[in-house]
Amino acid sequence: MRPVNGRIALSADAGAAVLVAELTARGHEVRALGTPDGFLSLVNEWAPQVVVLVHPAPGFTGRVRRAAPEATIVLVTDAAVDADAAEALGLHGVLGEASPIGMVVVAIESALRRASEHAELSHHQDLLRRMLGLATGIARLGSPEEVASLALDGFVGALADSAPPGLGGVQASGVFAVQFGTGAPVRYFGAGHYSGIEGELDLSEAVDQGLVGVFGRAGRTARGEEQRRVFLGIHGAGDVRGAVMAEGVEVPGALDDLVAIFGGLLGQALGNAVLYQRSTFDGLTGLYTRTMGLRRLGETLGLAGRYPSATTVLVLDVDHFKRVNDTLGHAAGDLVLIALADLIRATCRTTDVPARLGGEEFVIILPRTDEAAGALVAERLRRVVAAWRGSFEGAELSMTISIGVAAADPGEVDGAALVGRADDALYVAKRDGRNRVVCAS
Ligand code: GH3
Ligand code: MG
Ligand code: MG
Repeated sequence: MRPVNGRIALSADAGAAVLVAELTARGHEVRALGTPDGFLSLVNEWAPQVVVLVHPAPGFTGRVRRAAPEATIVLVTDAAVDADAAEALGLHGVLGEASPIGMVVVAIESALRRASEHAELSHHQDLLRRMLGLATGIARLGSPEEVASLALDGFVGALADSAPPGLGGVQASGVFAVQFGTGAPVRYFGAGHYSGIEGELDLSEAVDQGLVGVFGRAGRTARGEEQRRVFLGIHGAGDVRGAVMAEGVEVPGALDDLVAIFGGLLGQALGNAVLYQRSTFDGLTGLYTRTMGLRRLGETLGLAGRYPSATTVLVLDVDHFKRVNDTLGHAAGDLVLIALADLIRATCRTTDVPARLGGEEFVIILPRTDEAAGALVAERLRRVVAAWRGSFEGAELSMTISIGVAAADPGEVDGAALVGRADDALYVAKRDGRNRVVCAS
């Protein structure tokens, strides 16, 4: 068993000199005083972990308890102490005055050990609580960036707050390096005195060996002992990989498993956030994906059935888009699509829901809008798009779009059929010469 040394206050007269010498020899810090009032202020100011009272006057034990509510009291007395009083006073040990010194020392040291185990346990429990709270927080869906920054702040904060006292002056800080999927750049950002630091990391340059060592290895931990650093590897679905470094914290080895479990949860949360983002938002334009757009259309039609109102959809397609790709290349085509998405966002109401159906074809859901009003929106968008000019490597970019407009029948819930009618109208617009709006009815 590892020795636990502590601060021990002894209320005793000169007769306890042998006990003081023995405790001091065993590495404890001991102060002894015979005068009751002096002893009470010593207990008050010095905050000893153990208070030893040798044959105290009646009522004195109670006064000591009030002066040192946290301390463990060891009583050495031949007077009878009834069990209720002992419990009320929180006495750790009651020994007869004739007890050998060795027995008193054993009582004191077991009190110290118990206090230290209790303190350690409550730190562990506190950290566990914080980690569980954090795991719940990061499991809520946000963008991968939000999840990562919440996790970094929470991880560093939890470790710092639950660290045993004695790290005074060291600010808890940390760095998170993360790659949101294969081929994506490794990004890093900091917290604490690294906050505000962010950028892209070249792992081959091994900025920090600990970080690189656990990067992408789920639940793996490493330590930089001298600097009080803990590294944690993260690996989640969607090929998310990363590593967190917390610094200025102290994590007892007993908590490695907890930290590793947290690493697993963090990997899951990040992976889920990335998968959700990929299935929800189109990577090029940031608009909803086809799947998400059609789901939103279903919800809109359901709501319009419950609280009757019109719903109109616009399906639009870039005219002769293939020519942009063929003459200027795919990158120029991408630029045109990004510009179109921006024009759609700028032209629509925030309550309208645009989505990319695929390629250069988009749908815009217009809730509480009938076909005539939808046709006006479509015409406005057509003009705005036709007036747009961009540039790519010195070449001027422009585009026109064709738009099909269709309104839902009262009570219609089939979004795919509605989009199909708008698509048919779009086909007519293409056939009739493009750069125009055609209504289904
Ligand atoms: P139309 O006026 O009849 O619509 O002619 P179009 O050339 O626009 O129609 P088509 O469907 O033949 O061409 C669509 C092109 O869009 C073909 C495809 O390579 C290109 N495309 C699809 N997705 C993307 C993308 O994400 N980026 C780029 N640059 N091109 C894309
Ligand atoms: Mg086209
Ligand atoms: Mg097309």
